[in-house]
Amino acid sequence: MTKLPKTLRPASLLVHGGTMRSNFGETTEALFLTSGFVYDSAEQAEQTFLGEVEHFQYSRFGNPTVQMLESRLCLLEGAEACRATATGMAAVNAALLSHLKTGDRVVASRALFGSCYWIVSTLLPRYGIETVFVDGADLDAWAEALKTPTQVVLLETPSNPMLEIVDMKAVCDLAHASGAIVVVDNVFATPLLQKPLEYGADVVVYSCTKHIDGQGRVLGGAVLGSKKWIEEVLQPFTRNTGPAISPFNAWLLLKGLETLTLRVDASCRAAEQVARFLEAHPKVARTCYPTLESHPQRELAMRQMSAGGTLVTFDLGSKEAAFAMLNRLALISISNNLGDSKSLITHPATTTHMRVDAAERAKLGITAGVVRLSIGLEDPADLIDDLTQALEGALGAVAA
Ligand SMILES: *Cc1c(COP(=O)(O)O)cnc(C)c1O
Repeated sequence: MTKLPKTLRPASLLVHGGTMRSNFGETTEALFLTSGFVYDSAEQAEQTFLGEVEHFQYSRFGNPTVQMLESRLCLLEGAEACRATATGMAAVNAALLSHLKTGDRVVASRALFGSCYWIVSTLLPRYGIETVFVDGADLDAWAEALKTPTQVVLLETPSNPMLEIVDMKAVCDLAHASGAIVVVDNVFATPLLQKPLEYGADVVVYSCTKHIDGQGRVLGGAVLGSKKWIEEVLQPFTRNTGPAISPFNAWLLLKGLETLTLRVDASCRAAEQVARFLEAHPKVARTCYPTLESHPQRELAMRQMSAGGTLVTFDLGSKEAAFAMLNRLALISISNNLGDSKSLITHPATTTHMRVDAAERAKLGITAGVVRLSIGLEDPADLIDDLTQALEGALGAVAA
């Protein structure tokens, strides 16, 4: 691996960190699009399998391009070890299933990404794992749920789509006292804005599909944690069950990381501007953005995050008003994806959260008029122009 100064800041680490240059001296990271590797001798193969020499064996276990991505993500996160996966869901699933067994207990915040919610609510109980959901913002609820010994706590902060904040330090303390490891899905904050390990989290998971690629091209995921946990708990699971990422996708994600600080900084600045515009607009009943003075957990958000993130959620009062606005947009596209260079908007109640039952949706605050906007890299003035003309067509929302 290239020797780098120890003091590099994130922007520099994201361009250089983890690079392993081959003997050809290539400038950019090489794409090792290979499934297998060859040995100089039968003895070397034997020694590799005994773990006596370091040699790549098979791309399901490890691959040089994938390893460069893992090393770069470790440097950014401040984690000891990382395993990249084919999707964000493969990362969440591997982090949970590698650690859990029948008879164990999981406590999770209710406001989880849809597929994470399905794993906890539906899949884990099939294997005899008890699962409990709590309101992530309610520390008393966490304390009550964690009175019973627990093995895993899973949380997402800020949450999707209501941008609710979980107090990571407080929840990690409660979880550790209960015997649990804490897994944080850090997609909305990105590895730049929030470092869950500093608040006591044990494992951080990402969908690299979102801001890390950031240009809407490939799926990818990552699990980060201590060397011991990754090697002893996660690695046997991923090695043998095969959620490996394609080296090609890993290579694209390495290129995505190079521009992560530029993109996330620009999108966060634009998101705050758009959030302030929406909050002042008469047709918008309510605007959620972590750094707005009106966000009930603003102080906690500012403590845990260095900026508010790239998502803004707002309420137009009714499904009709939301649909009318979405259908008039000319620059912003309707899509359930997020973290793209193109701004994307979705109506959670009829898309991403359609399968969540109505009572549960109500508990989450996902009412019929709620829309979630992922801010891309367009000029914020053009986004505001597009929202302005589209809101003209929306019905007048009830004042909040
Ligand atoms: C997208 C997303 C996931 C799942 O990632 P995929 O790459 O789509 O599998 C998990 N958690 C959050 C918060 C997400 O936004």
